[in-house]
Amino acid sequence: MKRKILAILLSVTAAVTMLTGCGTSSKKEVKNTEVTASKSTEGKTPKYVFLFIGDGMSSVQINATQVYRGNNTSGQIATKPLNFTGFPAVGLATTFDATSFCPDSASTGTSISSGVKTHSGVIGLNVDKTTKPESITEKLKAAGKKIGIVSTVTINHATPAAFYAHVPSRNDYYDIAMQLPESNFDYFGGGSIYKATGDKKDKQDAYEVIKSKGYTIANKKEDIQKLDSSSNKVYAVTPVTEDSGSMPYTIDTKDGDLTLADYVSKGIDILDNDKGFFLMCESGKIDWACHANDAMSAIKEVIGLESAVQKAIDFAGKHPDETLILVTGDHETGGMTIGYAATGYNTAFNILDKQKISYIAFDTLISKKKEANPNISFEEVMPMIKENFGLIAPGDADANVEANKPYVLTSYEYQKLQNAFAESMKKADQRTKNEETAVLYGEYDPLSVTITHIINNKAGIGWTSYSHTGTPVPVYAYGASSEIFEGSYDNTDIFKKLVDVCKVK
Ligand SMILES: [Zn+2]
Repeated sequence: MKRKILAILLSVTAAVTMLTGCGTSSKKEVKNTEVTASKSTEGKTPKYVFLFIGDGMSSVQINATQVYRGNNTSGQIATKPLNFTGFPAVGLATTFDATSFCPDSASTGTSISSGVKTHSGVIGLNVDKTTKPESITEKLKAAGKKIGIVSTVTINHATPAAFYAHVPSRNDYYDIAMQLPESNFDYFGGGSIYKATGDKKDKQDAYEVIKSKGYTIANKKEDIQKLDSSSNKVYAVTPVTEDSGSMPYTIDTKDGDLTLADYVSKGIDILDNDKGFFLMCESGKIDWACHANDAMSAIKEVIGLESAVQKAIDFAGKHPDETLILVTGDHETGGMTIGYAATGYNTAFNILDKQKISYIAFDTLISKKKEANPNISFEEVMPMIKENFGLIAPGDADANVEANKPYVLTSYEYQKLQNAFAESMKKADQRTKNEETAVLYGEYDPLSVTITHIINNKAGIGWTSYSHTGTPVPVYAYGASSEIFEGSYDNTDIFKKLVDVCKVK
């Protein structure tokens, strides 16, 4: 990447030289702020570190977002880059864990936070599931920095947990929550606590425990907005939740709701101090949307992540030689790809624009309809599909309008949708379970997953899995010592490089 920038700089110099006919004076006129910034930050020790993790985000999720925002017109095809894809240093990290080439967030989070390979499902413990590696966050806390952990999903979910907890199973949600205050970290923000009173709801409320250990818990928007560097230890909990206590999907976020960018910005307010800080910020629902094969929701999450990264870029503008920003993924989810068997070389990502809500928000809508009318028919549901996803039944009067043609269901798609509806109407434990339904629906509601498959496929997006895959992830780096994140390496090296640049032992 750096070599490419240098080559561009040289060619600009050559062009100016040719125009002016005078090499020495013209060189001074050539300015490239990106190169200047990159040179001045080489080898610098970052005082402020931002680590953004797009859960389930690999190059495909990133490029799908660039394609969606780009120009989809034939002959004018262009992507619109994201702020972080323009970072000067780019690396590629492998993600396998001790037990699988298709790893999970617990093991990959541990690799990134602590530099070790462990079993899928294990958080903050070595492969023996007993001994604890010291995480980058623990090292930096000991060195006097303030530490912040932010996530759109529940705060005791695997990725955030990998930066403050040590448990043999990611499902030990209550134990993870109990370790949150023990970390003594300065700021937790975003999602709520999953199972705050334990699996059997018989434990002391985790919020009370956290409060008793000296944390301020702010769960109203106005209280969160008031927090600043004098607030001491803080947990800012999303006032609005969606599935399992997470922040709502970006696509489902209402005007005025706090966003991931707000939690990063608030983190900066709270953590700013003379010794610096480390802020890990996870966009966790890229992964959830990709598990469900819902491309539009995943893309909107990546856009939400970009807005959060912008807060760090703005901060870096004020502290250019002392800030390091990393943006990476922990693994890929869904086996997402750009290109689908039935659409060949064609894509039409603008079709996705018709989707108004996430698959989970649609499931909630349908559930309410079913409650009101247990014998609801496919014909009664189809208008809801049209309204929220833009898909039009072949017999619909709107199907004949030229502009609607891309959204009209083929008879093959219409049949698939009807079959899915029939399955969806059965009680969950009475649904057909075989190899075919495992491929068609995974563990998702047959109707909503079929809707997103159809709209995604029409756009030219394919999926191979409802789980994680073994694709490597990019690492984008900006600022102090960002150059050491160039090249090809393993996810454990992200930790090792951070230890190196932050000069901690
Ligand atoms: Zn993950």
